[in-house]
Amino acid sequence: MANQDLHIAIVGAGMGGLACALALAKKGFRHIEVYETASNLGFVGAGIQLAPNMARILDRLGCWADIEKEAVDLKETSIRQGSSDEELTLVDLGYVRGEYGYPHMVGHRSSLAGSLFEGCKREKSIKFFFSTSAEQVDAWSPKPTFRAKPRNGEPYTVTADILLAADGVKSIIRAQMLKELKVDADIQDTNQAAYRIMLTRDEMKHDPELLELIDGDRATRWIGEKRHIIAYPVSNKQIYNLSTAQPDTNFAAAPSATYTTKGSKAAMLSTFADFCPKVQRMLNLVPDGEVCEWKLRVHSPLPTWIHGCVALVGDACHPTLPHMAQGAAQAIEDAAVIAEALALMPARDPQTINKSLRVYEKIRKERAETLVEMAAASGRVLHLGESAAREERDRQFAAAREKKGSVPDKWADAEIQKHVYGHDCMKITQDSFAEIFAGL
Ligand SMILES: Cc1cc2nc3c(=O)[nH]c(=O)nc-3n(C[C@H](O)[C@H](O)[C@H](O)COP(=O)(O)OP(=O)(O)OC[C@H]3O[C@@H](n4cnc5c(N)ncnc54)[C@H](O)[C@@H]3O)c2cc1C
Repeated sequence: MANQDLHIAIVGAGMGGLACALALAKKGFRHIEVYETASNLGFVGAGIQLAPNMARILDRLGCWADIEKEAVDLKETSIRQGSSDEELTLVDLGYVRGEYGYPHMVGHRSSLAGSLFEGCKREKSIKFFFSTSAEQVDAWSPKPTFRAKPRNGEPYTVTADILLAADGVKSIIRAQMLKELKVDADIQDTNQAAYRIMLTRDEMKHDPELLELIDGDRATRWIGEKRHIIAYPVSNKQIYNLSTAQPDTNFAAAPSATYTTKGSKAAMLSTFADFCPKVQRMLNLVPDGEVCEWKLRVHSPLPTWIHGCVALVGDACHPTLPHMAQGAAQAIEDAAVIAEALALMPARDPQTINKSLRVYEKIRKERAETLVEMAAASGRVLHLGESAAREERDRQFAAAREKKGSVPDKWADAEIQKHVYGHDCMKITQDSFAEIFAGL
């Protein structure tokens, strides 16, 4: 029997789980099952950055063209003082397409998740089990086994050859794996939270300054002490997306299970009360009762992502602050590498599966964790209060405008982009699988 006959179970139909299913199907795997707690994809009303390292993979999976049709091609990034709207630096993004083969685009999350899902639906080998939660892993090897609980039905046992846990930052499979491995690592509070806001063209069109924002090919980051807002147009410029970061006060006393909550508009306005009038006018457009706040949590680095024939994927193993805009991109890189590695396995016994999953970990772990660290570091720099360090940062922003030195906002720095966007994880896996496998 070929590798492609292996039974692969995926838990979670987020960006990581969907990308795993599609990437494996494209490699010819014939028995792929996806278990998802929610009754459907449950689209979050928010934008997402579609960096070239993500686009390259999506293109090879056959679902980039649809996403690209309604995404917005960013030509520049403006980083501004939140209080005064003064521009600290302007960074060119127009070079990205020529340099990396794909542009730096931004889109709607539903467009990304929807295209991945449509791609999956075209593959006969992928079967979805919505409204079904993985509850408990009973075996990790030789055949990973878990209990699946349909929302309105009796639990049943799923036995697979490979289990991929793409169950997000709250991953119960990660928690069980760590317990099994007697590892003491836990979810970490970042003390940061985010509002996610989408304004329509209709809401903005009467205000020339706001219209200019939605019509531009530009991401704007307004920064202030302990807070910032990043904003860009999505959906063919019909929607302006804002994502904020601020100290977490509302969740501080909330139970750890709570990750999103309806926020108070008054609290949101007061959090950004010292930001410039343009920002104030946008925040004021959010209808009362539609303020949604997200808790931002990460996890202390894990000693391993693999146990037996089970692998963690995406936010389950490297949740990140959003300041590098790479969380979903990294989950998609995980998926692409897993599919390449499993297709290259020289045999299909549990030891070979485990070793091949460890090749995935070897290729992915350091890169993903570096980006997690970079996102945290960037947040610290963006959120500086009045100090000598902030003066130095702003001097660096000004120098970067003249192309002298790096941009302190790492997400916007061309040298960093070289590593993030220029990385072809599929090619790396194809080129290095045999050597890494032999060395394990
Ligand atoms: C404010 C903000 C802005 C962001 N901006 C960007 C950006 O611009 N670019 C970018 O690349 N990333 C961005 N990200 C990060 C990105 O959203 C996440 O990293 C990404 O969605 C993680 O995907 P995932 O599939 O690993 O997890 P998730 O998307 O969380 O999916 C996990 C899935 O598993 C399901 N599930 C959980 N437990 C179970 C279970 N026991 N059984 C069955 N199903 C289960 C859940 O219902 C969910 O559907 C941002 C994040 C935030 C918070």
